Amino acid sequence: MKILLQFPEGLKKNALSEAQKLEKEGQEVYLSSSACYGACDLPMEEASALNIDKLIHFGHSQFIRTSLPFQVEYREYYAHLDVEKLEGALSFLEGKERIVLVTTVQHIPQLEQVKSFLEKEGKEVLIGKGCFTAHPGQVLGCDPTAATSVSENADAILYVGDGKFHPTGIHSDLPVFSLNPSSGQCRQVNDEIEKIRKRKKGRMLKALECKVFAVLLSTKPGQFCPEVAREAKRKLQDAGFAAEILVSNEFNPVSIGNFPQFECYINTACPRVDEDSELFDKPIINAVDLDEFLELYNESGSG
Ligand code: SF4
Repeated sequence: MKILLQFPEGLKKNALSEAQKLEKEGQEVYLSSSACYGACDLPMEEASALNIDKLIHFGHSQFIRTSLPFQVEYREYYAHLDVEKLEGALSFLEGKERIVLVTTVQHIPQLEQVKSFLEKEGKEVLIGKGCFTAHPGQVLGCDPTAATSVSENADAILYVGDGKFHPTGIHSDLPVFSLNPSSGQCRQVNDEIEKIRKRKKGRMLKALECKVFAVLLSTKPGQFCPEVAREAKRKLQDAGFAAEILVSNEFNPVSIGNFPQFECYINTACPRVDEDSELFDKPIINAVDLDEFLELYNESGSG
């Protein structure tokens, strides 16, 4: 069988041993060396050039559910969690009884253990399910709904995992705490969430001065939404703007900057791209926020 292996950046160190294991079984193996940003980002060009039978995507849970011309196996990767390190969250959760618990795929097997730990401390633990995620309690950078879908009567949200990408994607008015299970360090991330909101608002205000828009459509299989791009273009044109769709696997600020006429980008690709907005010298608005922008535009009297 012809198999292509794909690893996110942090797991590329495991590629050689995984390839050798499969070769010992008699498989013909190739390694994709393209950058991999998430479970949405499968290496379609390499897969098609090699005419593979199967893709094994390491490190993420199933995301793409549409049928592709080859088999896709998502192989999850789990990290160690030391229950004692959870104590780092307790002082932050004092006085908060109902806690929404979320994590990334790396700690999904330990979610029940974390829940029991919190219950022993007298907490009620709420676990929701995301729209695009494979497991209850699992969040993605683009899908925080495992947190927000059960937060209505909660007192706080606790994210257990590394980094700030996932917890700062949880746009909630509740206190959001992030516990690093390796160090045991816990911190509240609402200030960072608020900064992201303010930056979004700032980009919208800047976009009010723009007349020519580019709608960004990514060909990554989990991001490819041509209907959404066409709808965004239509809405912009109906509002009196000039708009065209730019299509690419990945949006490089320099390449798209070489289209000088476009003054603002409407992003239908990964919604977290807008957080790298300082790399682009023009405002970026996510397609889900386009209606809000058009309302603002009408209210401002510009429309
Ligand atoms: S769309 Fe963005 S946040 Fe969502 S899985 Fe892909 S890279 Fe991650």
